[in-house]
Amino acid sequence: MNVRKVSDMFGNIIFSLLDPSVSSFFDSTPVCFKKQHENGVKPVRKAIEDNPINQLITLKKSLIRNAFLCGCLDFTEDLTIEYLIIGYGKKRGCGTDVSQVEYAIGNNNSVNVVPETKNRINQHVSQASRNEAIIFHNHPKNQINILLDNIPLASSPDSDTLLRNKYLEPLILFKALFNKGSIRFYLGENGFAREYSTPNILKLLNLVGINHERNKRV
Ligand SMILES: [Zn+2]
Repeated sequence: MNVRKVSDMFGNIIFSLLDPSVSSFFDSTPVCFKKQHENGVKPVRKAIEDNPINQLITLKKSLIRNAFLCGCLDFTEDLTIEYLIIGYGKKRGCGTDVSQVEYAIGNNNSVNVVPETKNRINQHVSQASRNEAIIFHNHPKNQINILLDNIPLASSPDSDTLLRNKYLEPLILFKALFNKGSIRFYLGENGFAREYSTPNILKLLNLVGINHERNKRV
């Protein structure tokens, strides 16, 4: 085995370790819910059950971020399809006050954001300095996550969405870096809710010019 082959082999190992699912290991631990957060369960359920998809719904009373997430997790925990639930609000201290909600329904392994919703999210976050959007979606139970009983792990499309909508949007990234309210992505799986904030590292490296495939061919 020559030096080049050894180098390629280590390159492959390193790059495979940077796979998006592995990126999830760099994310924070799941949200630790307390009894008081359960006050988000009823309002989130009611907002979804009483209103059509892709419509902005104003809550009677604002919810703190963890109460909103608790409501999202409770609503989606036993579903067999993915839901996307967006909380629009304002950053307050290290939390978020969520005052409006919107949702979309997907299938058993994906859920899409329509362009109108994407525009609404960007408009909301950019129109005032502390405005924030909390984007939650669930991964329904499947053979793998039942077997592994894992904490939420962002999929490759999840990491791509994060990269495109947060790290490649200058204003959103600027606001996130300076703690001015941004877009925050959360995933519900196996009874946990967890923020994912590590982008798809392979794609990020490609974008900054470190193209592994190209290097392999040289
Ligand atoms: Zn996902």
